[in-house]
Amino acid sequence: MADREKVRKSEDEWRRELTPEQYHVTREKGTERAFSGALWDNKQAGTYRCAGCGQELFSSDTKFESGSGWPSFYEPVEVEAVETDEDTSHGMQRTEALCSRCDAHLGHVFPDGPRPTGLRYCINSAALTFDAADEGGAGGG
Ligand code: FE
Repeated sequence: MADREKVRKSEDEWRRELTPEQYHVTREKGTERAFSGALWDNKQAGTYRCAGCGQELFSSDTKFESGSGWPSFYEPVEVEAVETDEDTSHGMQRTEALCSRCDAHLGHVFPDGPRPTGLRYCINSAALTFDAADEGGAGGG
């Protein structure tokens, strides 16, 4: 099980540890421009972690091509890893996705995803770091 202890830092600490883009997205609930992030088109096998605290959030096994320009997943690695909250900003009724450990804003969850969940976790690249899976003896590729 992942460590559920909350990570709490001051805004100054977050600002020091994160890039300006990561800070804007995760701490100020920003949104990167579609198709601008590093990971929307990433097709490598591996694990997506929270850019703020490193908690495992998503697996490449659940990533799909949504056409949105943001990394899209149909479910988190564990339900406890991603919390949701109602977001009525910008005149829209949306469901916000947050890291359960450090409360980083990740993106939003929409009910138009593929099976088996029918959900689309639309996540900013700037809220994620990617660990490529160890290719082992396969020779890489
Ligand atoms: Fe986090």
